[in-house]
Amino acid sequence: MSIQSSSVNARGTENVFRILGARSRRIVGIGIVVLSSALISIATWLLQNEYVQQRNTAQLEELARQVLHRTELAIDYAVISLGDVISPTGDLCHPQALRSLGEQVFFRGAVKEISVHDPGGKLLCSTQAAVEERTVDLWTEMAEFAALNPSITLQPIQPEAHGLFRVLWRVNGSYTVSATLNIDMLMFDIFPAALRDDAFADVVIGSEHVVARFGAVTNLSSSSPAMTFEVDAARYPIVARLGVGERAFAGWNAGSASTKLVLGAFLGAALGGLIARAAFRPVGPVEILRSAIQARELVPFYQPIFALPSQKIVGCEVLVRWIRTDGTIVVPDQFIPLAESSGLVALMTENIIEQALRQLRPLLRHTPDFKVAFNISPSHFTSRDFLDRLDRLVDQSGCTRQQVVLELTERTSFDDMSFAVTVAGTASDRGYCISLDDTGAGHNGLGHIQDLRPSVIKIDKKFVDVVSTDPTADAIIEVLVRLADRIGATLVAEGVEHEHQVTALSRFGVHQAQGYLVSKPLNYETFKTFLVNHGFRSLNESDGVSQPQR
Ligand code: C2E
Ligand code: CA
Ligand code: CA
Repeated sequence: MSIQSSSVNARGTENVFRILGARSRRIVGIGIVVLSSALISIATWLLQNEYVQQRNTAQLEELARQVLHRTELAIDYAVISLGDVISPTGDLCHPQALRSLGEQVFFRGAVKEISVHDPGGKLLCSTQAAVEERTVDLWTEMAEFAALNPSITLQPIQPEAHGLFRVLWRVNGSYTVSATLNIDMLMFDIFPAALRDDAFADVVIGSEHVVARFGAVTNLSSSSPAMTFEVDAARYPIVARLGVGERAFAGWNAGSASTKLVLGAFLGAALGGLIARAAFRPVGPVEILRSAIQARELVPFYQPIFALPSQKIVGCEVLVRWIRTDGTIVVPDQFIPLAESSGLVALMTENIIEQALRQLRPLLRHTPDFKVAFNISPSHFTSRDFLDRLDRLVDQSGCTRQQVVLELTERTSFDDMSFAVTVAGTASDRGYCISLDDTGAGHNGLGHIQDLRPSVIKIDKKFVDVVSTDPTADAIIEVLVRLADRIGATLVAEGVEHEHQVTALSRFGVHQAQGYLVSKPLNYETFKTFLVNHGFRSLNESDGVSQPQR
């Protein structure tokens, strides 16, 4: 593309962001960054909180299970200790047996005392020598709670909540053995540091006797625990109950809120930056051209086509012009290659066809033999549904298809020639005139005349320039004249600038011509005046019929 990219960029930016100035764009960009930064940091915070809640809940449940598990283990050990030494037949208070029981107390840390009672609860002997007097009538004072094993029961000891309780084992009709447990020491490390001052754990026998408590309900940061968990033991009538204060629950595992917010804000800002960058990406030439097409900055100009030798105006060629917002006119050579390579050429040309047919409507409707030629690139001509879209444009304009000439340009070749031939055949069947542009130059050679069966053949300017001075050019023109006559096509010479060319071309038998000699391409207003000056009546719809006067 020959147009300067930098100037395209600068002007294009001005085009596309006419509505949004550079300052506003900066403000919007900063807004996007700030907004996404705030949103992501809030989202991060919420997600993290949700995650922390779930994690805390799972960990607290596990803690409650731990409390229960340790208590069960202590009881299991006590039962195992008793099982090791008691025998239903022997005398458990015999000094030898009592020594064995004492050893069990020594080895099992949680077992504080083992005592032997008669069926009425009366103390028979104990591993603690001086305990005799105070433990009489064991059963009458205390509730018992049966374990899964019917011989074993648990019994709270008053005052409760000091970590003490008894495991009673009814050995036979003569003895019941009691092991007093203290589970306080088993739990000293149960709470992680973050919870230690704002949580409690109870071990409950039955549903009411709190036999051990770690931490205190009264110390909690909230009036009632933020979270409580209860876990039941399967083999013993024990429940572990755990409660945590609000502060500890919220702060545990949470990390610092400011770190989360800063991290979230950072991520959000990065994301917002990307969004803003994508939204305000510098606009490339293709986008500039597209918005210019949509803004109708690309408009049709008209170059008259005249008969030879009479110079009567018989039609026109539509040539696109880009009128920039500053009024400068850009010629097609500067943007058609980009339009073709980017695929915008179809949008552009159809936009031009639509504008031209609307402007020429009065002329075409009332001058049936006036023809209007449009330049159609090969890729556009063979694009999907091209003829259907063209039909709609032509039909709604009120002119006839016979008035529409499709000039197949030579700039690029047809990728699929056989399909192009099919489309050309269909176009002719529907009434359109096919014209071969720039014949003899570039891709449009004689072979294309044979393939595409044009009803118009245009002689390239390079032959017209040297007509009657270059015998080879003359010979080519003569061949084209004979060929056109043979197949019934109209031969049009392009780029006629001088009278002597008109004379020579007329002498060779060329039918029509266009060129600066008669007129340059004109905008619609000037073209209307031109036509009126050449014998056409007014082109205004309201003025009724317009027709050549000569
Ligand atoms: P083209 O179809 O060969 O158009 C003829 C070109 O010769 C036009 O250039 C016209 O202004 C110029 N011309 C006509 N008479 C004279 C003359 O006496 N002397 C000189 N020196 N030049 C003359 P323009 O308008 O710059 O168009 C260039 C090309 O752009 C066209 O070549 C055509 O291939 C393409 N084009 C124009 N409009 C469209 C369009 O709407 N769609 C497509 N696909 N191509 C277009
Ligand atoms: Ca042309
Ligand atoms: Ca041409």
